[in-house]
Amino acid sequence: NISQELPVIRQLDDAAINRIAAGEVVERPASAVKELVENAIDAGSTRIEIAYSDGGKTLIRITDDGCGISEDQLPLALSRHATSKIDGSDLLDIHTFGFRGEALPSLGAVGRLTITSRVGRAPAACISVEGSVMGPVKPAALSGGTIVELRDLFYATPARLKFMRTDRAEAQAITDVVKRLAMAEPFIGFTLRDVTGGGEGRATFRAEAETGDLFDALHGRLAKIIGKEFAENALRIDAERDGLRLIGYAALPTYSRGSSVAQYLFVNGRPVKDKLLVGALRGAYFDYLSRDRHPAAALFIDCDPHLVDVNVHPAKSEVRFRDPGVARGLIVSSLRHALAEAGHRASTTVAG
Ligand code: ADP
Ligand code: MG
Repeated sequence: NISQELPVIRQLDDAAINRIAAGEVVERPASAVKELVENAIDAGSTRIEIAYSDGGKTLIRITDDGCGISEDQLPLALSRHATSKIDGSDLLDIHTFGFRGEALPSLGAVGRLTITSRVGRAPAACISVEGSVMGPVKPAALSGGTIVELRDLFYATPARLKFMRTDRAEAQAITDVVKRLAMAEPFIGFTLRDVTGGGEGRATFRAEAETGDLFDALHGRLAKIIGKEFAENALRIDAERDGLRLIGYAALPTYSRGSSVAQYLFVNGRPVKDKLLVGALRGAYFDYLSRDRHPAAALFIDCDPHLVDVNVHPAKSEVRFRDPGVARGLIVSSLRHALAEAGHRASTTVAG
C-alpha cells in the first residue's frame, strides 16, 4: 500500500546543507588549510602564516596581510554562496582560487570558526560561527589583514573524526598542501608552524618572499622546496601555443626519481593532479628514461579561464581543457626541445 509509505519531502535546514557541502570541500585538516590559504592568496597577501596543533585537528590558524574583510561584510563571508570573486554573470571567467563561496560556511559547519579582520584604518572586528550558528560581530584588535581560526575540526561529526589519520600524517598532508601553494606563489612569504601545546611553537617550513623576475623567483622557490639539487639540474621551460603559456623547470633525465613524488603541475596557479598532464610529462621523457624512472618537474600552465574548466571537482584538483591536445602537445614539444638542447650542449662540451 503506497499511500502509507509515501515519502515526505522536507527542505533541509542550513546547518544540514552546510554539513553536506562540507563533506565535499573539507575531507581533512589539509583541505581546510588549502581553502584558507587560497583565500589569503586571493586577498592579495604578501605574507601568510599557517599554524596548526595536533595535525590540525584541534587548531588551524591562518594569518595574512591581505585586503581584509570589512565589519559589515563579515556575516556575508560566512554565508553560503556569498563570494566577492564572481558576480555570477560569467561562470567561466574565474581568475581567483575561490569562486563558490562555500569554504567558510562549510568550515563553520564542521568546526568552531572565528574570523578577525581589519580593512585599512577602519576598526578591526571579529565573528564566530559554530554549528552554522553565527555569533554577533564584535570589536577586535588587529593591525591589519585577516586571521582565520578553525578549532576542533569535525567535533560535531564523530564519523568523520574517526577517519582522520595520525597527527603526524595529517601534519604531513598540511605541509604538502602549503608547499604546493608556495611553489606557485614565489613572491609571497610563507611560514608553517606547529603550535601543538600552545605558545610560539616551531616553524616546520619557512620560505621568504622571493625577489627578481618570475623565473628567478620560481627557481629560488623550487630550490627551497624541491631541493638545491633539483634546481641545479633543472631546465628552464618557457613556451606558448594557441593561448596556453607554459613556464617552469624540468630536471635533466639524470635527476629522475624512482617515483612521481617530484612532479608538480599547476593550471592558472592551482595545483592539479591531472592524468592528461602527467601523461604528457611522461611522454616528453619517453626517449630518455626507462619505465621505472620518473621525471622531476614543476610546470605551470596559464591561460584564459575560458580555455579550461576548473569546475570539474569541488576540491579543484582536476581540470578539463577545452582542447586537451594543445595542452599535451605544448608540454611534450617544449620539454623535448629543452632536453634535446641540453643533450646537445652536453655533447658539444665533451667534444670541445
Ligand atoms: P570564495 O573563496 O569561493 O569566495 P569563501 O567561503 O572561501 O568563498 O570566502 C567567502 C568570501 O570571504 C570571499 O569571497 C572573500 O571576499 C572573503 N574572504 C575569505 N577569506 C578572506 C581573507 N583571508 N581575506 C580577505 N577576504 C576573505
Ligand atoms: Mg575560498
